Order: sequence, then structure tokens, then C-alpha cells
Amino acid sequence: MNTMTLIFDARSENEVFARCSGVAFLMPWNLSVEMLMEIKTVLAEAIVNAILHGYKNTQQGKIKLEMSVDDEGLLTMIVEDQGEGIDDVLLAMTPMYTTRQDLERSGMGFTIMQSFLDELEVVSAKGEGCRITGKKQLKCYG
Ligand code: ATP
Ligand code: MG
Repeated sequence: MNTMTLIFDARSENEVFARCSGVAFLMPWNLSVEMLMEIKTVLAEAIVNAILHGYKNTQQGKIKLEMSVDDEGLLTMIVEDQGEGIDDVLLAMTPMYTTRQDLERSGMGFTIMQSFLDELEVVSAKGEGCRITGKKQLKCYG
């Protein structure tokens, strides 16, 4: 098992840093560009959600990113915030459901994450932050 943890301020300029760091951690696995793009997209969606919804773009608060790869090449990614939280997780995960029509969000973040992952778990409650756990089997290139 190989693991890394990153804790960073919930500021929009840190989104690119965090998603690229997550992908950089996976460089030794020699993954295809396609797989790296999928992982980067999942990280971006989860981190933007934490910044925008969790902390309401206040730039206040911390986000934790944890990544691990086990001996069978199973990747686990955890993105955690201590923000607003979600009242109804199932509803929030419904395609095209968004609470931010005003920002012209499409409500497709969770759906995109699910499409690129083998497993997605969302644990949240109102006022108690949000933790999303994604699992994906890594396949080496070539
Ligand atoms: P898009 O991702 O397409 O720009 P979106 O962010 O609204 O739009 P999802 O990512 O699917 O769509 O999230 C759906 C809804 O779940 C959000 O509108 C928000 O209400 C809620 N949500 C998602 N992540 C969090 C979070 N970390 N904290 C609080 N609420 C969240
Ligand atoms: Mg989103």
C-alpha cells in the first residue's frame, strides 16, 4: 500500500495544484493518458464541489485529499471538507440536480465522477461536511 495526504486551503486557485498533485502521485504506475484524465476529472469535480458548495466560495476552510494504491493496484481517493454538508445525498447525486442554477452549474459533477470510477461513496449530513470516496482499479499502460 502506498499513500499520500494533502491538506490545502479551500481557495479556487488551489484546485489545479491539488488535482495535478494527485495525478503526480500516480506517475510511477505508468498509466494511460486516458486513465490519468479520468482521475484528474474526478479530482477536479470533487475539489470544486468542496470549494463552491461546501465552503460557499468563502475561501475559508480546509480540504483534505487522500490517495492510496494497494498491492493489487486499487486506487482509493478521498476528498473531505468540513463545510455546509448535504441534506439529501441521494437527491444531490441525481443527474442534473444542482442547488446553484445561479452559477449556471449543470448538476453533473457526481454523475461524471461515477462514470469514471468503479465505486463512489458520498458521506455527508447538513452542517457536518462531506467526504467522498472513489475507487478505481488502475491498469498499467502497455
Ligand atoms: P456541476 O458539478 O455540474 O458544475 P453541481 O456542482 O451543482 O454542478 P454536482 O457536482 O453533481 O453538481 O453536485 C450536486 C449538488 O450536490 C450541488 O449542487 C450541491 O448542492 C451538492 N454538493 C456537492 N458537493 C458538495 C459538498 N462538498 N458540500 C456541500 N454540498 C455539496
Ligand atoms: Mg459539481
